[in-house]
Amino acid sequence: MIEKFDIAVIGGGIAGISVAARLSKHAKIGLFEQEGFIAHHSSSRSAAVFISDYGNSDVCELNLITFHELQSKYPNILKQRGLMSLEKSSDVEEFDKHAKSLGLSLISVNEAKEKAPIIDLNSIKQAAWRDDVFDIDTDLLIQTLRKECLSNGVQIFTNSAINELERNKDKWILNSKIQSEILINASGAWADSIARLANLKPKNIQPFKRSMARVELDTSNNLSSLPLLVGSDDSWYAKPDAGSMIVSPADVNPCEPHDAWANEEDIALGIYNFEKMVEAKVKKLTSNWAGLRSFAPDQSLVIGPDQSEPNFFWLAGQGGYGFQTCLAASQIAEDILFNQTPQVSTSLSKKFSPCRFA
Ligand SMILES: Cc1cc2nc3c(=O)[nH]c(=O)nc-3n(C[C@H](O)[C@H](O)[C@H](O)COP(=O)(O)OP(=O)(O)OC[C@H]3O[C@@H](n4cnc5c(N)ncnc54)[C@H](O)[C@@H]3O)c2cc1C
Repeated sequence: MIEKFDIAVIGGGIAGISVAARLSKHAKIGLFEQEGFIAHHSSSRSAAVFISDYGNSDVCELNLITFHELQSKYPNILKQRGLMSLEKSSDVEEFDKHAKSLGLSLISVNEAKEKAPIIDLNSIKQAAWRDDVFDIDTDLLIQTLRKECLSNGVQIFTNSAINELERNKDKWILNSKIQSEILINASGAWADSIARLANLKPKNIQPFKRSMARVELDTSNNLSSLPLLVGSDDSWYAKPDAGSMIVSPADVNPCEPHDAWANEEDIALGIYNFEKMVEAKVKKLTSNWAGLRSFAPDQSLVIGPDQSEPNFFWLAGQGGYGFQTCLAASQIAEDILFNQTPQVSTSLSKKFSPCRFA
């Protein structure tokens, strides 16, 4: 028997869950996730940080829209953390440029030490800071959106890889047994593969691997109140997480879509660069992992109907900002698919249209 939906969402990461929750008041939705549980890939492997100035200027507008909705509708998701950037050289001009790009204010190294007692003043020559950087409780956000989906009747199918897509009399047929009017491609690193399954042109969405390590430090300092610490040369970042620290080498390694794992050399390099800037040394590596950050060529998200098949809706290219843009992205989907008075200005949403690619 063929199961029928108005909308089939492919992908159970933050993109798929947030769009399904948003659209669930309008339509009968089936969400299909190839793994045994939702958020198995990038969405369970992030640094869980919100930085409003992270991404290009269009992406930053999505960050702000998401921020406002998170604060008003989901007030427990964001917790202030602060961000401190650290520089080991005295090149003022370069550091100033870097600080401006992240909206940071320059502070003295002594102020930096007060805010983050573990840093090593023998190594640090310059520092910059902003207060309004937040931890995102990504688990809570996903579970909250999942509950919203379920209470509005969304059917979530795990262990359900979509590997056949057919067009039949204006309907999509998935795996020969599911019928849907509209297909939403929220498959993260696999977004181009899903387009190919549908006989549509891919958008050159490229996954890049990023690794992370959880470490214990030999320090008596209270780690939990530290800000997000970043090396201004993009060679590491670190933040407190569940009583220990997570450290990333900020690696950007292009790869094919896959279940990513951390490369030992990348992890070692990240820890080495981090240790050079702090007094505390890493005592123990307790775990490590990697995830894929998938970018369109212009680093902006891809949101909207495909130019040659309007019932194929792209929700891809979330890059390193999939959480901090998720509610704006799902709002654009609702605006376009349900033709309502746009909540996000059309001049902004057009910037993410898949039609920008020839
Ligand atoms: C180390 C790291 C740090 C990050 N830090 C941050 C951060 O601080 N802040 C932030 O906002 N973002 C951050 N990100 C980015 C963020 O994690 C991603 O942008 C986001 O998780 C992408 O969500 P997604 O739903 O598009 O992809 P995913 O979470 O990968 O979900 C896509 C899903 O589609 C499923 N799928 C694929 N093909 C099929 C198929 N054929 N059938 C059924 N299901 C399929 C996959 O199994 C997967 O579960 C980070 C990412 C990494 C890796």
